[in-house]
Amino acid sequence: MKWITIIALLVAFLSLGQHTSSQLKTVDFQKAQALISLDELSNEVTGELLFDIKMLQDASSIFIDAKNLVSYQVFLDNKEVKTIYDGEKLMVQAPFRASDNKKLKIKFTSYPSKAMYHIDENNDRIWDQVWTQGQGKYTSNWLPCIDDMNDKMIWSFHITAPKSKRVIANGKLTKVQPDADQMIWSYNMEQPMSSYLVALVAGDYQVKKDTSASGVPLEYYYYPKEEKKVAPTYQHSKEIFDFLEAEIGVAYPWQNYKQVPVKDFLYSGMENTGMTIFNDAFFTDELGANDRSYVNVNAHELAHQWFGNLVTETEAKHHWLHEGFASYYALLAEKHLYGTAYFQAQLFEYAEALNEQTAKGTSTALLDEKATSLSFYQHGAWALHALKEEVGVLSFRESVIKYLLRNKYQNVTTASFLDVVAEVSEKDLTAFKATWLTSTIFPTAEALRILRKQPVMEQYLQLSARRISTFEESYNSYQETLQQPVERVLVKEMVAQLSIHDNEKKYELLQQAAALNDVEVNQLIVLSTPTLNHKNRELIASMLNDASYVTRESVLFLLWNDASDKRAVLENSRAQWEELNYNLDMAWIVLALNSTGYTNEELLPFLVRLQAYTGSEYSTETRTAAFDYLINLDAMSQQNYTDLMNASLHHVWRFYENARAVLNVQYQKEKGQFFIDQSLGNFDTESQEKLKQVLGLKD
Ligand SMILES: [Zn+2]
Repeated sequence: MKWITIIALLVAFLSLGQHTSSQLKTVDFQKAQALISLDELSNEVTGELLFDIKMLQDASSIFIDAKNLVSYQVFLDNKEVKTIYDGEKLMVQAPFRASDNKKLKIKFTSYPSKAMYHIDENNDRIWDQVWTQGQGKYTSNWLPCIDDMNDKMIWSFHITAPKSKRVIANGKLTKVQPDADQMIWSYNMEQPMSSYLVALVAGDYQVKKDTSASGVPLEYYYYPKEEKKVAPTYQHSKEIFDFLEAEIGVAYPWQNYKQVPVKDFLYSGMENTGMTIFNDAFFTDELGANDRSYVNVNAHELAHQWFGNLVTETEAKHHWLHEGFASYYALLAEKHLYGTAYFQAQLFEYAEALNEQTAKGTSTALLDEKATSLSFYQHGAWALHALKEEVGVLSFRESVIKYLLRNKYQNVTTASFLDVVAEVSEKDLTAFKATWLTSTIFPTAEALRILRKQPVMEQYLQLSARRISTFEESYNSYQETLQQPVERVLVKEMVAQLSIHDNEKKYELLQQAAALNDVEVNQLIVLSTPTLNHKNRELIASMLNDASYVTRESVLFLLWNDASDKRAVLENSRAQWEELNYNLDMAWIVLALNSTGYTNEELLPFLVRLQAYTGSEYSTETRTAAFDYLINLDAMSQQNYTDLMNASLHHVWRFYENARAVLNVQYQKEKGQFFIDQSLGNFDTESQEKLKQVLGLKD
């Protein structure tokens, strides 16, 4: 290699570093057409990106963010051009002139290690689902693009995938055409967006369609085998959509709105443009919807379609413009569904958590780019609630509309919003900004002052203050709480307080609370009951068939613990339940395995069923619980150890962290070590290396 080449390379690499996110003044990426092909057997992505670019300044090179590429070729107006690739950025070298319009084409193959995930449910090394998660600046891990969220472009997609799969991406589906044993799915967008909002899902899906009051197509995706979960999961979707569109006051800005559940998602949900991807832990049947409601996630991600997607922060410092708004509008949607008392109680809960954060000294200012999630989300929501109090509902609403319309499809800062509010309300917001946005202290007293304006909150706060009173002192307030019309949040507060009291009269109050027939109240009654006695036995037993798996499991345990004929309790409950989820099934099995009255022959199939729950077709939550149960029962099979090792290589952080901790503890034991060593041979070399690292067998 000649010296001159090395120097040229050095200069090029140095300028790569300098150019991070400063290309905005040089070039504008206007359109992106992505042709992507998913390989049926691996995580290989091959494709072609065609960008329409407009030069804003003369330049000798421009770059594209591109990670994990194994091969690439770049063309400018159809002529191949020189490139330098450092593993993160692809630098295109050519003389560019200001105001040139060019077509930039990249052919590539990538093997993404993050941002695109291939889910293999049955470990046959053929993926069942592919989904992406680009939040922040991760899309370039699988798709060469511009990660800078300030460069918005209009996207279209042509995605080739195995025929057995349905492909879902941002925009409007314009064509599905066969290509040998594959299908090509074409989606078009009309408006520009930041690249982190690009989304792709491929898998076994069906879709139910609906239309919003304003005529926007709504698409609810589901697994064909679980069609009965469609109605409970999406029960409020249309109402939330119609409510938010009216509440925000600006028409929904995209062609359609899709919601797609995926397996083993990293978070609760992600607001990709026109297409929310959500964790299928929220894709539930009717009972499950009472235990884990999708409503808040549903409304939160939808609100981002305006706050985040239509107007996007210029930088992390203004992240509350995404999360604070999405959290606040989600709360407003919940207020619409569940009433003022619920809304107020949620705000109170947020304030309590934020107050605690301040007390611990870990509080961050809202405009700090490194603010905690609690600050960006809950403090952000509170700042908006306080601002609405400050300027009035009408001014607030008008400001939000102006802010969105003035900045649509562009990027924004906190000033973009506050300036509009000041203009519309004709108020000086200096004090508001100091109290709510730049101070590191959460203004708890101010928050309480705002909350107390609502009569129900005054009642709630008075009742909460009873937490330190005696039963006799509180008795009258408890009775008032149960007078019609009752507020669920007040009754729940009372039930929680009753759990610490030992007075006989509390059982009458619990009876009255249970007579409300409220699933949430009942659940709290059961969860706060440590054991049965002659005063509560009948009441608790009456909740065995409540529409909540959590309640059923707790009632079962209380009854089982109390009974002399444990088998009868188990058989009886099983006979009554038409619906069962995995958690409840596991709990039932574990109780059976701990009961007398079963023969070993009868117990064996139960054990086999419990052992099966560690497999990768189950959710991370189910698998975590199964490992726990099996280890406690000292009943881990060879396959369970293999599953545990697989779990410790999983992509969901909370899941693999727990699996690794469990694996290490088991490896300290003779039996565990034997099985783990045995299983190690089933893994490929790369996984074996990782597992050895996890086990501390390597540096
Ligand atoms: Zn969010």
